Amino acid sequence: MTLESRIRDVEDRLARACAASGRKREDVTVIAVTKYVSTATAAAVVKAGARHIGENRWPDAKDKWEALKEQAQFHYIGSLQTNKVKDVVGRFQYIHSLDRLSLAEAIHKKASSLGIEVPCLLQVNVSGEESKHGLAPEQVPELIRQLRPLTGVKPIGLMTMAPFEDEPERTRSVFRALRELRDELNRAALTEAPLTELSMGMSNDFEVAVEEGATWVRLGTVLVGKEEIEAN
Ligand SMILES: *Cc1c(COP(=O)(O)O)cnc(C)c1O
Repeated sequence: MTLESRIRDVEDRLARACAASGRKREDVTVIAVTKYVSTATAAAVVKAGARHIGENRWPDAKDKWEALKEQAQFHYIGSLQTNKVKDVVGRFQYIHSLDRLSLAEAIHKKASSLGIEVPCLLQVNVSGEESKHGLAPEQVPELIRQLRPLTGVKPIGLMTMAPFEDEPERTRSVFRALRELRDELNRAALTEAPLTELSMGMSNDFEVAVEEGATWVRLGTVLVGKEEIEAN
């Protein structure tokens, strides 16, 4: 499949998922996850209209960031080691993988030194799978309270990864639980501004995530494709 046909296919499927759930297409933003492809392919994706790029490791993202930083916003979606925060803050506009206080403190420190505030999503392990990063849902309110003095960190929403399922419908309860958690947090008014974002849905399950309220979908294989790339 060519890039153009993948983009068209994803757009059709997004439009259908929005229509099926009474949502507006413009309320869902696609993050093109370029971690499986070369800088040249990532550039083609941006040329085709992508304005949001997702990457999960700084060393692999570096060339793409250098090439595309003027044309796209960068989302850090992978687990983030505290000692890598200095590479990410100031380069990536969003961090989707905030899952502990020590990481928040490191982000705050670096952001403050740059005079910026980093919009962050708290990563939640809704399904409780051991292989997945993220906070248990019941840990989220406490971390949100602990973020208050950290002015360099701005919580804007929640992120999750659903377990891979052959039948995507089976992921629905995970996405629904993330939305309900966000709404509960907003009712408790733990943050200065309401949490608006839900980063959920990947190639295998994005339509279900959209039906359950995703505001960001993170699409790699189905949109950008996958290719052999040389290690750098
Ligand atoms: C790789 C990755 C994606 C995209 O994966 P696909 O299934 O190829 O769409 C989305 N989110 C995260 C956190 C990832 O690491």
